[in-house]
Amino acid sequence: MIRLDANRVLVTGGAGFLGSHLCDRLIAEGEDVLCLDNFYTGIKRNVEHLMGRPGFELIRHGVTFPLYLEVDRIYNLACPASPVHYQFDPVQTTKTSVHGAINMLGLAKRVKALILQASTSEVYGDPEVHPQPESYWGRVNPIGIRSCYDEGKRCAETLFFDYHRQHQLEIKVIRIFNTYGPRMHPNDGRVVSNFIVQALKGKDITIYGSGQQTRSFCYVDDLIDGMVRMMNSDPAFIGPVNIGNPGEFTMLELAELILKIVGGKSKLVFEPLPQDDPKQRQPDIALAQSALSWEPKVKLEDGLKETVSYFKTILAI
Ligand code: NAD
Ligand code: UDP
Ligand code: UDP
Repeated sequence: MIRLDANRVLVTGGAGFLGSHLCDRLIAEGEDVLCLDNFYTGIKRNVEHLMGRPGFELIRHGVTFPLYLEVDRIYNLACPASPVHYQFDPVQTTKTSVHGAINMLGLAKRVKALILQASTSEVYGDPEVHPQPESYWGRVNPIGIRSCYDEGKRCAETLFFDYHRQHQLEIKVIRIFNTYGPRMHPNDGRVVSNFIVQALKGKDITIYGSGQQTRSFCYVDDLIDGMVRMMNSDPAFIGPVNIGNPGEFTMLELAELILKIVGGKSKLVFEPLPQDDPKQRQPDIALAQSALSWEPKVKLEDGLKETVSYFKTILAI
């Protein structure tokens, strides 16, 4: 489908896990997509099926450098998301969030584009309020090993709201909670990919700490639907809005569910809890429900089955 009224849409971080699914969705809707990535954690294989499709273009570029393009909409997703990757080069992580936001906001300002920021539940830090509503300001360590990501994303939110107030820029901010699905990087160290790869290879399942800490896992298709709804929502609604699945699980429950799906003989082993690891996380999605008529549909077990199938293919198991 080629639409004459298609939007020219820039997706930064478009070759990553979420970015590539977003590109799929936008191409399916007939938009003209500029997928920008520096391939820090993203890979070309995530978007190679889109190469040659009318309306799809791949650009190698880092968002910390200025960029001059003509676009109608920008989804700003560029930033490593897994703790292992964002802690590998923490200075670059902060630069990507902060300089990247400044450059993309500068671009949006020049061409009068609508711009959406992929923010994160990490802005809530290790929360004392549970579940987390958007009105909660969070509890974040400014000098810990997660701070490059958490504070970088918080500063990016500040920049978005200041460009909105000071320059009347049209913005949208979503706070994404843990999301999983096909095209997660097998070595990114996130809990869902780690447990699935370990279970498929018959290796020990590494539980950090007691495994009683909780997370809420959203399947990628639900997340992308929420993100696109936010971009298309009433201009007066700018967020921030939580997008995530309120189903809350301990890491032990997650390990048991993955073992049930994969089968095999993996044992659970306990390793030290990383510094500043949040004890609990669950989105309050009342705002997304009322403002976007959005809520997640995919049950954790069903989404995990899809994800296991994907990892079986790429690991050739
Ligand atoms: P990902 O690591 O798979 O994707 C990030 C992409 O950004 C990669 O393709 C990477 O190469 C690219 N990138 C990194 N630095 C860049 C730079 N300087 N310039 C250009 N491209 C750069 O991670 P993801 O899970 O797809 O996350 C996408 C976005 O969503 C991130 O901004 C992340 O903070 C946010 N988010 C994700 C989750 C989640 O659970 N997946 C949760 C909260 C927020
Ligand atoms: N910028 C960009 N593309 C553009 C316009 C701006 O990458 O099309 C970058 C540029 O590096 C600039 C930054 O965005 O420094 C912020 O732009 P803004 O206009 O807000 O600030 P100024 O240029 O006045 O510092
Ligand atoms: N985790 C774990 N084993 C692993 C990887 C992660 O027990 O092999 C835990 C981690 O300590 C955290 C939770 O799983 O409590 C989610 O970790 P992830 O890195 O996926 O995301 P985040 O901490 O950023 O929510």
